[in-house]
Amino acid sequence: MVDHSIQQLKGIGPKMYEKLSDMGITTLEDLLYYFPNRYDHYEQKPLHELVHEEKVTIVGQVIQEPIVQYYNRKRSRLTVSLRADGAVVKGIMFNRAFAKNHFIPGELVTVSGKWDQHRLQITIDQYQKGTMESNSPITPIYPLKGDLKNSQLIKVITQAIGNKLHTVDDFLPEQYIENYRLPIRQEAIKQIHFPDSFTELKHAKRRFIYEELLIFQLKMQLFRKRNKEATTGNAQQFDQEKVNNLMKQLPFVLTNAQLKSLKEILDDLQSPYRMNRLLQGDVGSGKTAVATISLYASVTAGKQAAFMVPTEILAEQHEHSLRAMLPEDVSIARLTGSVKGKKRKEILQRLEAGEIDVLIGTHALIQDDVHFTNLGYCIIDEQHRFGVNQRNTLKEKGILADILFMTATPIPRTLSITAFGDMDVSKIDEMPKGRKPIETYWVKHNMLNRILSFIYKEMKNGSQAYVVCPLIEESDKLDIQNAVDLYMQLQAALDGKVKVGLMHGRLSNEEKEQVMEDFTSNRIQLLVSTTVVEVGVNVPNATIMMIQDADRFGLSQLHQLRGRVGRGEKQSYCILVADPKGDTGKERMRIMTETTDGFVLAEKDLELRGPGDVFGVKQSGVPEFKVADLVHDYRALETARNDAIDIIVNKRWREKEFTKLFDYIKEEFTLFHDLLN
Ligand code: ADP
Ligand code: MG
Repeated sequence: MVDHSIQQLKGIGPKMYEKLSDMGITTLEDLLYYFPNRYDHYEQKPLHELVHEEKVTIVGQVIQEPIVQYYNRKRSRLTVSLRADGAVVKGIMFNRAFAKNHFIPGELVTVSGKWDQHRLQITIDQYQKGTMESNSPITPIYPLKGDLKNSQLIKVITQAIGNKLHTVDDFLPEQYIENYRLPIRQEAIKQIHFPDSFTELKHAKRRFIYEELLIFQLKMQLFRKRNKEATTGNAQQFDQEKVNNLMKQLPFVLTNAQLKSLKEILDDLQSPYRMNRLLQGDVGSGKTAVATISLYASVTAGKQAAFMVPTEILAEQHEHSLRAMLPEDVSIARLTGSVKGKKRKEILQRLEAGEIDVLIGTHALIQDDVHFTNLGYCIIDEQHRFGVNQRNTLKEKGILADILFMTATPIPRTLSITAFGDMDVSKIDEMPKGRKPIETYWVKHNMLNRILSFIYKEMKNGSQAYVVCPLIEESDKLDIQNAVDLYMQLQAALDGKVKVGLMHGRLSNEEKEQVMEDFTSNRIQLLVSTTVVEVGVNVPNATIMMIQDADRFGLSQLHQLRGRVGRGEKQSYCILVADPKGDTGKERMRIMTETTDGFVLAEKDLELRGPGDVFGVKQSGVPEFKVADLVHDYRALETARNDAIDIIVNKRWREKEFTKLFDYIKEEFTLFHDLLN
């Protein structure tokens, strides 16, 4: 459709134009695509089918004259009793005393408004004598800004549909319309604004959901294509024999899932294309082991490798495990915010001279003055903690570098193919053998003493424990206060019998390292901490994770915390201390005790909190969709993805049926013109 200004519609003068353009509507296309966010429909249902707190419509017989109470001259309350479906329903209306004369005893009236199921009461906002026509229309309700009225917008849209709908062109190929039984675009627009029935409305929505997701997935596939075509020539010829030897020396055999992921990663390293891969796996599934082997492969190919992690604690820990796993002739250095002055300068010099093979660190790695001579491979751990921008900076540092993102936050499939739709995904969906599932208990605060004696008993047997303090949003000051209080309380309760340590974000880096070291070497048995222990920390002798006010955490975060234990041979426990008030909190606690599967939890989290809260929409790059909903429309998403892959891989834009789709997309994505020939 050619863009036409809405000014050509009747009734749109300068004032109306301004109101509409304030809402982002200036063209006919904008107008026709300004969809309602809900619909009113006065459908009469039997009383027992009415839903509490929803808007309902009731036909009833007036039993007696309404009673009006006045609070003052302007404020009043009218109460009327109606007989409906053999019951007596009370109708109330505020500040509309004049309506009294419309309710005549013995006559039928139709009222609609909010329903209170418990009191059999309706708060009337519309009423009408007699029964309503049985086929009353479904009325669109639009999201509005300023003082524009819903009825005004309905008028304008009615006009646009009446006069201009024929200019709308359908760009979806006919085969999709037929296969999925979608309405054509003109019909769908009409039905989404003014549905003939809820069935028609459903089909109209289905069409727009598919359309939106298809375009989005096409964009993702084009990004992928661009990425592959733009970066050829970085094939890494690594030494397979050395890699095999390293694997033989490990104290364990890789699981099948680890082997499969490793192969996918090594194939990427060897290919001329740049790797852009996400490695997913639950906490403790052995991602770091796989990453380390691949890192070594890259080093044997004569490249430098970078390993970026979100916290100093992790950087230190990973450095330890890399040194333990890799042969001694691999030179490893660590660069974090706390490495300063001379030491930093020295590392930067050695890096540029090519004397460092593996650089591990926090986002200190992506500062401007950090130059690799020959960066071939970047691994980014817990990638969702880094913003999209930081990810890109690292990419730009070594233009041809292969990149592996790792995440222990299981990402629901719908999110991973949207936020990371331009990436390849490897998944470790199998735990190393011999792990005992963590037992999870949910207890109330008043059981604290019993829990403490349980913890004490475990510690007497040589185990260690974490106690995580409640999360206080937007105030790390209070967070820390909490941790300090709890630390003192536990120290007093345990009366010097075990050593209690304290960890929080305000400690200096040296202090943090010291505390972690004391805990790792069992000089501290019980570690009180804020959520800084959430990611990656690995102390296999710790078997108890107690989380205070656990209902304040999201499921994925609880799962992360729980993943700190269950890393050794001994039975581990997770104790959730919470007295949740709401149903969601209770539901969360219940789910945590029922499953240890991170993917199940992630899906639940997504359902309970929505994608924005699970990842932070802006951070993660999860787009906001106009009609599609990632929780409910995952089938459509997969269909759209498969179609998009088919179109791009098989160059279907060359087919006649696809011409219009690609004309439409070319306008949207000028970026990709050159890819489409
Ligand atoms: P992740 O990074 O996924 O949390 P890690 O790679 O840190 O997992 O592995 C967790 C622990 O399990 C480490 O102590 C590691 O040495 C060990 N591990 C890794 N792979 C295996 C395996 N295949 N069999 C036994 N233990 C393993
Ligand atoms: Mg890890």
